[in-house]
Amino acid sequence: MAKVLLVLYPDPIDGYPPRYARDRIPVLDAYPNGQTLPTPEGLDFVPGALVGSVSGELGLRRYLEEAGHTLVVTSDKEGADSEFERELPDADVVISQPFWPAYLTPERLAKAPNLKLAVTAGIGSDHVDLATAIEKNITVAEVTYSNSIGVAEHTVMQVLALVRDFIPQHRIVTEGGWNIADAVQRSYDLEGMDVGVLAAGRIGRAVIERLAPFGVRLHYTDRHRLPEEVEKQHGLTFHPDVRDLVREIDVLTVHAPLTAETEGLIDDELLSTMRRGSYIVNPARGAIADRDAIVRALESGQLAGYAGDVWFPQPAQADHPWRAMPHNAMTPHTSGSSLNGQARYAAGTREILEDFFAERPIRPEYLIVDGGGYAGTGAHSYAKS
Ligand code: NDP
Repeated sequence: MAKVLLVLYPDPIDGYPPRYARDRIPVLDAYPNGQTLPTPEGLDFVPGALVGSVSGELGLRRYLEEAGHTLVVTSDKEGADSEFERELPDADVVISQPFWPAYLTPERLAKAPNLKLAVTAGIGSDHVDLATAIEKNITVAEVTYSNSIGVAEHTVMQVLALVRDFIPQHRIVTEGGWNIADAVQRSYDLEGMDVGVLAAGRIGRAVIERLAPFGVRLHYTDRHRLPEEVEKQHGLTFHPDVRDLVREIDVLTVHAPLTAETEGLIDDELLSTMRRGSYIVNPARGAIADRDAIVRALESGQLAGYAGDVWFPQPAQADHPWRAMPHNAMTPHTSGSSLNGQARYAAGTREILEDFFAERPIRPEYLIVDGGGYAGTGAHSYAKS
C-alpha cells in the first residue's frame, strides 16, 4: 500500500468550506482540440467545490483510503522542518499544484527513496527537477489542458486591465473619488494595438483566438509555426524569435514553459528594445522575467504596465518588489485554479492515480517523465528540441 503526500494551499482565512457564489459550473464536452476531459472511474466531490485547499484534499481521501493507501495532506512545504520534508522520506507519491508548488529539488529527491510518482495537479512541472526524476526513474505527470482556457481568460483580463488602466480607476471609486482626469491619464484603447504572443501552444493560441475580435494586429513567435490557415484566419504575423517580436508590438503575452532556454529571457536588454510604454502579461512562470529588470522598466517608463500571476518563488515573500512596483496588475497564482479548473485537475489527478495503482499506462498527454526519460507531452515540451 502506498503513502500519498499531497501539498495544497491553505484553506480560506474565514474557514472551509466557503459560501459559494454560484451553485454549479458548466459541463464541458471536450477540450478545444478534441482531447477528452479527465475520465476517472469515480469522483468524490461536487465539481465547483474548493478542492485545491487543504480541507478539499482534491477530493481524494475516500478513494485512497478505501483502497488501503495512506493520505497525508499539508500546506507546510518550506524548509527542513516542514511537514512536507518530514513526510517525504517514505512517500511513494507526491502531488502538488503549481500555485503552491512542493519544490522537488535534487536534494529533496535524494531524501525520497520510495518516490515513484510526482503529480502536478495543474500544468507546468518545472517545480520538479526533471533531470533527477529521469535519473531516479520517477514518473512525472500533469493534467494537460485542465486549466489552459482559464489562463487564457485571465491573460485577456490582465491585458485589458493594464491598457485601460482599470485598477487605479477602481481604486478611485472605492475611495469615494470622481476625478476623471486622474482616472484617464493613462487609459488607452486596445483596439489597433500590436499584440505579440510568445509561444502559441494551448494557452497562447487560446489568447490569440480571444484577442482577435478586439481589432488588434496579432503577432507571435514559437519554436514551430502554426498552420498557414490559422495564421490567415487571425491575420497573424510570425516572428522568428522573441527579439524580433518585441520590437514591433505594444503588448506582449508570455506562454512558454520555464526551461533553461526561457529562464531570465525578459531581461534589461530585451526590455530596452521594446516600444516605450509597452505592456507585458506573463501567466507562464515568474522566472521567465528578470524580477528587478521589470521593476526598473516600470520605474523608467519603458514599460507602461506588467501583470501576470506567476512569481518566483511561490508563495512570494511579503516584500517581493512586484507587489509594490508601479502600474502592476499582478494577482497571486490563481488563473489556473478557478473552481472550474480545480474540478478538472482534481479529476485528472484521480485518473492518473487510478492508472498508476492499477499499473495501466497513464495517458501520454499527461506524461512528462516516464521510464527514465521524457515522455508524452514532456518529450515535446521539456526535452531540448
Ligand atoms: P503548451 O505545451 O501547449 O505550449 C507551450 C508552447 O511553448 C509550445 O507551443 C512550445 O512550442 C512553446 N515553446 C517552448 N519553448 C519555447 C521557446 N523557447 N520559445 C518559443 N516557444 C517555446 O503549454 P500550455 O500552453 O498549456 O502552457 C504553457 C505554460 O503556461 C506552461 O508550461 C506553464 O508554465 C504555464 N501555465 C500557467 C498556468 C497558470 O495558472 N498561470 C496554468 C497552466 C500553465 P512547440 O510546441 O511549438 O515546440
